[in-house]
Amino acid sequence: MITCQEVSDWLLDYLSGELSENDRRAVDHHLGSCPACVSFVHSYRMTISLSRRLAAQPTPPELIERIQVRFTQAGHLGRM
Ligand SMILES: [Zn+2]
Repeated sequence: MITCQEVSDWLLDYLSGELSENDRRAVDHHLGSCPACVSFVHSYRMTISLSRRLAAQPTPPELIERIQVRFTQAGHLGRM
C-alpha cells in the first residue's frame, strides 16, 4: 500500500501516463480507498486544465508545489 505522499509525488506522471503499470495500479488502488486523494487528483486536474486554458503553456512547477503544500498542510498525511 502506497502513502498519500507517494500519490502526490507520482500524480503528475500518473496523469501524463508515464508511470509504470505497477505504480499506476498502486495509485489506482490507493485512490479506491482514499477519498482525500481522489479530491486531490480532482483539484490537480482542474488546476492543470485551468492553467492550460489561461496561459496555453505547461503548469508552472510553483503552482504544483503550492497544491502539494496545501494538501500536506491539510493534515491528511498525518493519518497514514
Ligand atoms: Zn491518500
